[in-house]
Amino acid sequence: MSSPRSRVNGFLAAGHVCAVMGTEEYIPLAAKYKVPIVVTAFEPLDLLQGILMCVTQLEEGRHEVENQYERLVRAEGNRPAQAMIREVFQVVRRTWRGIGPIAESGLGLRPEYLEFDAEKRFGVEAVGGPESTECQSGLVLQGLLKPQECPAFGTRCTPEKPLGATMVSSEGACAAYYRYRRVMA
Ligand code: SF4
Repeated sequence: MSSPRSRVNGFLAAGHVCAVMGTEEYIPLAAKYKVPIVVTAFEPLDLLQGILMCVTQLEEGRHEVENQYERLVRAEGNRPAQAMIREVFQVVRRTWRGIGPIAESGLGLRPEYLEFDAEKRFGVEAVGGPESTECQSGLVLQGLLKPQECPAFGTRCTPEKPLGATMVSSEGACAAYYRYRRVMA
C-alpha cells in the first residue's frame, strides 16, 4: 500500500488469521491508507457478502474495518493463542514473494527457541526460493496487471508448473484466473 503505483482499493482480510489475531491491528492500517478492510470467511456466500460490504464502503466513501465473519471472529481475537505465539515468535523483517522485503512483516523464532530453527539446525540458512525472472506476480498483487496479461500465463506458468506465488495456491489470483478462464471468457 506504500507503493504510489498500487491500485488496490480495498481488502478482504482472511478470516482464519483474524480468528486468532482479531481485527484491532487493522484499524490503523485502514485509517492510514484509507482503504476498507472487511474480515471475510470462506464459503461462497461469505465471500459475496464480504465483497458487497467492501464495495458499499467504497461507494459511501468510508474506509473502516468491518467483520463479515462475526460468527467466529472477535475484535480482540483469541488471546491465549496470541500469548502462545508471542512466547515462541518475534516480529522480524520478511521477504514476500513477488513483493520483496518488508520491515516488521513476519515472524521468526525467539532466541530461546532457536534450537528448533531448521535453518540453523541443519545449516541451510542460505537456501532461498529464487523467483522466476519472468514472473510478474508483484504487479498482479498490486492490481497493476491482470493474470492473463502475463505472457507466461497458461503456457509456461500453470498450477501444475507455477512460476510464481499467485499461481501456486488455489486462491492466488493467477490460479483463480486459470481455473475459471473459460467462465470469464
Ligand atoms: S501467470 Fe505465472 S508467471 Fe505470470 S504473474 Fe502469474 S504466477 Fe507469475
